[in-house]
Amino acid sequence: MAEIDPWGSLQIEDYTKLFEEFGISPFKELLPHIKNPHRYMRRGIIFGHRSYEEVVSAMKNKRPFSAMSGFMPSGHAHLGHKMVLDELIWHQEQGASIFLGIADREAHAVRNIPWKECHKIAVDEYITSAIALGLKTEKSHIYFQSKSNSVKDLAFELGCRVNLSELSAIYGFTGETSISHMLSAITQSADILHPQLSEHGGPQPVIIPVGADQDPHIRLTRGLASKMRMFTIEIREERSGKRYISVRGKTAPKEALQEVAERTERELQTRTRLFEGHVDIQTLEMERVIEITREIELAHNGYAFIPPAATYHRFMSGLQGGKMSSSTPESLISLTEPPEDAAKKVKQAKTGGRVSLKEQQRDGGDPERCMIYELHLFHLTEDDRELQEIYRACKNGKLICGQCKRKTAEKIQEFLKEHQKKMEEARDELEEYNIKK
Ligand code: SF4
Repeated sequence: MAEIDPWGSLQIEDYTKLFEEFGISPFKELLPHIKNPHRYMRRGIIFGHRSYEEVVSAMKNKRPFSAMSGFMPSGHAHLGHKMVLDELIWHQEQGASIFLGIADREAHAVRNIPWKECHKIAVDEYITSAIALGLKTEKSHIYFQSKSNSVKDLAFELGCRVNLSELSAIYGFTGETSISHMLSAITQSADILHPQLSEHGGPQPVIIPVGADQDPHIRLTRGLASKMRMFTIEIREERSGKRYISVRGKTAPKEALQEVAERTERELQTRTRLFEGHVDIQTLEMERVIEITREIELAHNGYAFIPPAATYHRFMSGLQGGKMSSSTPESLISLTEPPEDAAKKVKQAKTGGRVSLKEQQRDGGDPERCMIYELHLFHLTEDDRELQEIYRACKNGKLICGQCKRKTAEKIQEFLKEHQKKMEEARDELEEYNIKK
C-alpha cells in the first residue's frame, strides 16, 4: 500500500490510485451542484473529496458550516500555501465560518522552532497574507494552537481514544519519535474538530482543504470523530428481510438510550424495542434518527461530531520541474520575496518549449509540462477563456517561450507588488484584531 507521509515531501504521481486505495471520491461528480465553483474546482486541481456533499448541501440550504486549515509557521508562505488560503476565502464567500489555526505546537515539536519565532513567522507570513488575499477577519477565528485552551483540552480528550500503534501505522512513528511530535498529530485533529464545539455553534459540516499528502490526518480525525460519538447507528436486517435502524449506545448512559427509544417512537410514529445497550427502531428514516440521537448526545454532554469533510488538491510543481520544496528556494515563489527576484525565477523556469524556435513554431509547445503554464493555471489567470487561449497559442506554435516568460514574469511581479502592499495594510487590521505583531 502506498504510504502518504504528511511530514515528508513525497510527490504523489498517480492521483487516481488514491480513489481506490484510500476511498477518496472524485470531485468532478459534485461540480454541477456547486454555484460559481472556484477555478481549482473547475480546472480539476481539486480532484477528490471526502463527504463534501454535506458541505454542498449546507451551502445550498444556507445552513451553518465551517472551513478550517492549519499553517505551520516554519518558513515563508508561498504559492502552495496561497492555494489553501484561496480555498478558505472562497468558502468564506459562500457563507462558511473560517478557522485559521497556527500550528505552532507542531513547528516547535517537529521543527524545533522557538515559540517567539513561530509567532513572528505566523504573523509576518501567514496571517497578513491571508488578510491580503481577502480573508475577512471579522468572520474568522484566527488562533495559535499553543494559546487555545479549547484546542488543547480537546487534543487531550482525543488522545484518550488513540494509541501508539494506530499513530505509528498512519505516520510511521517509531520509538525515536518524541512524545510532543505525537501530541502535535492529535492537536491537529483537535484543530479540525473544534469548530464543532458548542462554543462555535455545535456539530456542523467542516471542510478541510488539503493536499493529498495530508490525508492521514483526515482519516485519523474522521475516525476520532466517530469514536467520540456516544452512539453508532446502522441499518440491520431481520431474518424475514425487513430492514430497520439499530442505535447502539457505545458510551451513552442508559437514560440517553431510553430517550432515543421514546423520542423516535413519538416523533417518527414508529415501533421501537429497547434492549441492554441498544435500541431497534422500525424505520429507515436515517436522517431523522441521526438528528434525534445528535440532540440527545449533546444534551448528555457528548460531542456528536460530524466526520470532517475534505477536498484534495494537486500539488504545484517546482519551477524547475520536479518537486516544489521549501529547502530549494529556486523551486518556489514566496509571497514575501522581492517581486524582481520572483520575476527572475520565472524567467529561469522550466518550460514545455522545443529546442529551437523553428521547431516550436512548427510543432508547438507542451503546456502540460510547462511550469509557466502551471503558474497561469493555478494562480495568474482567472478567466478560463484567457487560459484556453494561452494553451491553444502554445500548442499551435504561435506563442514563443521567451515572450510568454516575459509576460508571466511581469504578471507575477505585479501580483506580488500588490499583495505585499495589501500585507502592509493588513498589519493595521491585525492591531485592531488584537493579534500582536
Ligand atoms: Fe510554456 Fe509559454 Fe513556452 Fe508554451 S509558450 S511552453 S506556455 S512558456
